[in-house]
Amino acid sequence: MKVLVINAGSSSLKYQLFDMDDESVLAKGNCERIGAHNSVLTHKPTGGDTVEHMEYMKDHMAAINLVFKALTAEEGGVIKDMSEIQAVGHRVLHGGEKLYESTMVTDDVEATIKKHTPLGPLHNPANLAGIRACRQIMPHVPQVAVFDTGFHHTMPEKAFMYALPYEYYTDHMVRRYGFHGTSHRYVSAEAARYLGRTGDPDFKVVTCHLGNGSSFAAVKGGVCIDTSMGLTPLEGIPMGTRCGSIDPAIIEYVMGVENLDIHEMLTVLNKKSGVLGISGIGSDFRDLWIAAEEGNNRAKLALDMFCYSGGKYIASYAAAMNGMDAIVFTAGIGENDWDVRSGMCEYLTFLGVRINLEKNKVKARSILDVTGEGSTVKVLVIPTNEELVIARDTRDIVAAN
Ligand code: ADP
Repeated sequence: MKVLVINAGSSSLKYQLFDMDDESVLAKGNCERIGAHNSVLTHKPTGGDTVEHMEYMKDHMAAINLVFKALTAEEGGVIKDMSEIQAVGHRVLHGGEKLYESTMVTDDVEATIKKHTPLGPLHNPANLAGIRACRQIMPHVPQVAVFDTGFHHTMPEKAFMYALPYEYYTDHMVRRYGFHGTSHRYVSAEAARYLGRTGDPDFKVVTCHLGNGSSFAAVKGGVCIDTSMGLTPLEGIPMGTRCGSIDPAIIEYVMGVENLDIHEMLTVLNKKSGVLGISGIGSDFRDLWIAAEEGNNRAKLALDMFCYSGGKYIASYAAAMNGMDAIVFTAGIGENDWDVRSGMCEYLTFLGVRINLEKNKVKARSILDVTGEGSTVKVLVIPTNEELVIARDTRDIVAAN
């Protein structure tokens, strides 16, 4: 079965075509600057050369049409025609409390995703645009939605509630939802498999998804019991450009002294804060380490704050589970930045965590075990694969229907 996985953003659309007979990727690509006149699709067939399609993509419908063109083109194409695609899996940010299991897309499902737009104002409309375009272009092909929030649905009330008037939860859906769920689900299951603990209800792992957005999850027996992102992906550790958790009273104070309206304030919190805001340099950790080595104190401070905050999250999740068998690092920073990995683990020696500093510097192409001698906790680097999770769910749901 060939499954197309779509991750639609507001002005971009990423895709991967899987052959689910052997779970291989046939091709992947990215449509960038949708809606602008310099839009471009970059297509990479597995084992072949990258092909650029410079074509104006007015909207997501035009982008999907161009994806089909790239997949079937003489140069770089991997299928003869679209009818070979038997199902499409869509990444959807926010499913709220009702939509947590991956599901076949119906009109009702579309309506529920739309209803949750206030909780995912940037992503849900874009995800819907991708779904609608695919349903229109290929009406007989099953479409499946996989939710970023889904894996965290198992959190107990004490972890997902905010200490606000209870009615805000019952009337307005205000609670912790968590994000990066497909990634936390994938790497926690991979860790259990690698350590021979699949199905063990006592296996306790803290997964650290560290990318442009970063989140932590406490996973016990394969089930998420807590996570660091909240109602939106703004909560938690300081991120590339997002502030993470701050005193909520700062918002009104800064709006007053800087004369900002709420939209400007939200832009500051989402786009001008985090390690970018602290360092004044950027959000890419490679640039920050170079600047820190050159003596830039604010870059060093941003990195110190990131590692300190991460160390505290991991330790608090060890407390939440009353133990910790493994820590997993994943995503752009987690997979590549050994200084961040060792920096966070420095705060965890009292919990018996030791990291092997030599192994930690090896590039992780598959599961990399960086556990140090005498460590009572396994420390693993596991490349995430959210697209594969979406393709697997899509295959399973289509097969069951
Ligand atoms: P997204 O959240 O957008 O999916 P990624 O998981 O791809 O992001 O992470 C992107 C971030 O990973 C970059 O901004 C950069 O900070 C970091 N990163 C990528 N490669 C490296 C590297 N070799 N060393 C340090 N950091 C890296």
